[in-house]
Amino acid sequence: MAIERTFSMIKPDATKRNLTGAITKVFEDNGLRVVASKRVWMSKREAEGFYAVHKERPFFGELVEGMTSGPTIVQVLEGENAILKNREIMGATNPAQAAEGTIRKQFALSIGENSVHGSDAPETAAQEIKYWFADTEIVG
Ligand code: ADP
Ligand code: MG
Repeated sequence: MAIERTFSMIKPDATKRNLTGAITKVFEDNGLRVVASKRVWMSKREAEGFYAVHKERPFFGELVEGMTSGPTIVQVLEGENAILKNREIMGATNPAQAAEGTIRKQFALSIGENSVHGSDAPETAAQEIKYWFADTEIVG
């Protein structure tokens, strides 16, 4: 296993409920380190660009609306096997299917308002980190 970096977001449904610390603690308790973090209120253009891979999906409008409805915490998480580990800690996209103890099981409201985002592969992690952070903002 190798030390990896992944991109994570604490979405507006969670920041609105003051869950930034509670969710970050789950990452830390599972051995991931926050090596970059900032609070942004993303524009429609930023949200559409970030989620461009989903632009043909029926939920795209709802997704962009949700992501621009309040502040988001964008983070880089570092640790052993961080990309897969973070996906496991997050749980399934639909909280109704998320395993016990996962962030989405604990905190998500619905499949749309599911509290967190995490990169799904090394290529997307690199791309998504670059979308939100300059190299100088990542301090390991
Ligand atoms: P994940 O975030 O688990 O990687 P996807 O990449 O499939 O999931 O989808 C991106 C985001 O789009 C989800 O986290 C969720 O907020 C939203 N989404 C996905 N499927 C639906 C759906 N059927 N209805 C509403 N929103 C959805
Ligand atoms: Mg995804």
